[in-house]
Amino acid sequence: MKALEKSKPEEGLWMVQAPVPEIGPDEVLIRINKTGICGTDIHIWNWDDWASHTVPHPMITGHEFVGEVVEIGKDVTGLSIGQRCSGEGHLIGNDSRQSRAGKFHLDPGTRGIGVNEQGAFAQYLKLPAFNVIPLPDDIPDEIGAILDPLGNAVHTALSFDLLGEDVLITGAGPIGIMAAAVARHAGARNVVITDINPQRLELAEHVVPNLRPVNVAKEDLNDVIAELGLKEGFDVGLEMSGNQIALDQMVEALVMGGKIALLGIPPGKSPVDWSRIVFKAITIKGVYGREMFETWYKMIAMLQNGLDVSRVITHQFEVDDFEAGFAAMKSGQSGKVVLNWRA
Ligand code: NAD
Ligand code: ZN
Repeated sequence: MKALEKSKPEEGLWMVQAPVPEIGPDEVLIRINKTGICGTDIHIWNWDDWASHTVPHPMITGHEFVGEVVEIGKDVTGLSIGQRCSGEGHLIGNDSRQSRAGKFHLDPGTRGIGVNEQGAFAQYLKLPAFNVIPLPDDIPDEIGAILDPLGNAVHTALSFDLLGEDVLITGAGPIGIMAAAVARHAGARNVVITDINPQRLELAEHVVPNLRPVNVAKEDLNDVIAELGLKEGFDVGLEMSGNQIALDQMVEALVMGGKIALLGIPPGKSPVDWSRIVFKAITIKGVYGREMFETWYKMIAMLQNGLDVSRVITHQFEVDDFEAGFAAMKSGQSGKVVLNWRA
């Protein structure tokens, strides 16, 4: 089969021929239809510090996918050949305290496909049947390919009650933009998204109705707070940039007792104004991945009930043109980039 592989410890990914994976009794084989390129894949392409210390090679990359079940392990029940599906790319064990409590996404032994285990940038992927998410017919393949990052957005956005709240999102990357769409869908009153990249803010406006984009390189958030008539600031903050200045601005722009969900990953250790957080009595929640499987359930339900994130997909390429896809991602101007594996 064709696969996009980190074959050697240097910048780039290479299209290789790899054997079709052999499945175990609890696994299924999925023929891949489309995949999404993630920021993580860019780190692996660039072979930065994180990637070179985390990812063994050779490694088939990729973890955002949609496909269909073509082979089923002998102990698997409840799935059939031809079932269209996506799936959770975090592979977990079942003997940690968290797993045994049903909090699978908090298992400390989690391994990621495309990072620690062979991934989804291939014509075929093997996955534990437990991780498979069957897709209803009304969710198209393009959306199926980006459910993993949409799940990050949903998990973060639903960390706190948003109904009637004023919400500030820092970072209008694909995940921040999708989180804005979710906040709108969940009934927030004002949704404000910040960035310093005007193209990203334009895209955010294009994807999400009734959004107030703010270029913090040009505009002061305090002016926006006044313009919207928010007496004391935002109720909830969703940090989606990994940028320290953005987090500082968020802490300043929140009400007393405000809440922050942190998804963005700063490049290294990042100082915070700790006492400011204490005196503002702010609640902070770190968010990793998606809840298995509550986020998947809520996400599919919202997509079937009017949540529309389709316009966040700005580019689609045949997989043979993967280099153009990665270039689009690396430009910083794209939304989600999707690769088609079924010519
Ligand atoms: P992205 O890099 O495409 O988007 C980040 C955006 O933040 C960019 O548009 C950038 O211009 C903007 N930004 C930079 N400085 C800013 C500032 N001062 N104020 C406001 N915006 C600023 O990333 P993405 O794919 O949308 O992911 C969002 C973040 O979530 C990233 O940090 C990523 O590493 C992280 N992430 C975390 C998890 C997790 O499990 N915790 C999972 C996926 C992604
Ligand atoms: Zn991803």
